[in-house]
Amino acid sequence: MQDSYGRNINYLRISVTDRCNLRCRYCMSEDGVDKLDHSQILSFEEIVRLVDIASQVGVRKVRLTGGEPLVRRNIIQLVRGISNIPKIDDIAITTNGVLFAQMAEQLKDAGLQRVNISLDSLVAEKFKYITRCGNLTDVRNAIFRALELEMHPVKINTVIIKGFNDDELLDFAELAYIYPLHIRFIEFMPVGDLLFWKKERVLSARKMQEAIEKKYVLKAAKKIEGNGPAKYYNIQGGKGSIGFISPMSNHFCGECNRIRLTAEGSLRGCLYDKREISLKHALRSGAGDEEIKRLFVNVIKMKPFKHNMNAGWGVENKRKMYQIGG
Ligand code: SAM
Ligand code: SF4
Repeated sequence: MQDSYGRNINYLRISVTDRCNLRCRYCMSEDGVDKLDHSQILSFEEIVRLVDIASQVGVRKVRLTGGEPLVRRNIIQLVRGISNIPKIDDIAITTNGVLFAQMAEQLKDAGLQRVNISLDSLVAEKFKYITRCGNLTDVRNAIFRALELEMHPVKINTVIIKGFNDDELLDFAELAYIYPLHIRFIEFMPVGDLLFWKKERVLSARKMQEAIEKKYVLKAAKKIEGNGPAKYYNIQGGKGSIGFISPMSNHFCGECNRIRLTAEGSLRGCLYDKREISLKHALRSGAGDEEIKRLFVNVIKMKPFKHNMNAGWGVENKRKMYQIGG
C-alpha cells in the first residue's frame, strides 16, 4: 500500500527481542538492557498473526532483527510460521553472526532466505573491543556458512566509525573482491548509546567511496527493486559488491518502503519518528483483524516525509536501536 507521499510500503522489520549476546559500544551499555518480562514482548503467535495481517495491507518482505534475533528461544519456529504465510515472499534476518553458523541449516530449512551479518572489524582485538566480548572467529564462520548454504546475496553490514575502523575500508573491500559478498558500509548514526556517538566519528559515504576507489574500480550496479536504501557498486574484477548507506549525509527517505515493529509490539513508521501505535495492546484487548489492519494503515499514513536524524535523537525519544530493530 502507498503512504501519504506515494511510497510503496511492502517491508516490515521486526525486533524479536531487545536482548543481545554482544555489547557493541555504540548500541548498548556494558550492562546490556533492562530485561523485559516475557509477557511484555510479543509471543510468536502474536507476531505471526501481525505479519499475516500486514501481508493483507501489502507487506511482502519481513526482516527479523533486534537486539540479537538468534538469542530468542525457538526463533526457527517463528521463521517457519512466517514462511507459511502465503503472501510473504521474502524472509531475512540481521544478525551479529555469533550463533548463526550452528543454526544456519535449520533456519534455511524453516524458510529463511537471506542473512545480513554485522561486522565492524576484521582485526580480532578491535572486534573484541567494539563488541566488548565478541569473538571474530564466530562471525567468520557465520559468513562462510551462509556462503556454503548459498543464501545469496550474503550481506555484511559495517558501521564505519572514524578513528576506529576507517583504516579497514580497503580490507573490507578486498573481501568483496575475493568472495561473492555484498559489503554495506553504513554511516555512523546518532542512535543507541549516545555517549559513544560523536559528530567527529561520522565518515560520509562519499569519503568512504573515495578511499576505496584509491585501489578498486567501482561501477554503479543496477538498482534492485526493494533492495533497500544502499547505493551499490560492482567491484571491477571481483566477485561481490560494495554498498553505501548514507542516512546522515544523504537521506534516502524518498525510497523508504518499510515500517517497524518493536520488541514490545508497537508499530513505527520510521526509525527516527518516536510516534508509534501499540499493536500488542490491540491484540491483547481482543481486536479483530480488520481493526488491526486499520492500525497498520494509520501508521503507514503517518510515515514522515523524511527523518530528522541530523537534529539528534532527542531526550524524549525513549527507545534504543535494539528495541526498535536496527
Ligand atoms: N544484533 C543484530 C546485529 O548486530 O546485526 C541486529 C540488530 S543491530 C541493532 C542492527 C544493525 O544496526 C547492526 O548492523 C548495527 O551495526 C547497526 N547499528 C546499531 N547502531 C548503529 C548506529 N549508531 N549507527 C549505524 N548503525 C548502527
Ligand atoms: Fe547487539 Fe547488534 Fe546492538 Fe551489537 S549492534 S549490541 S550485536 S544488537
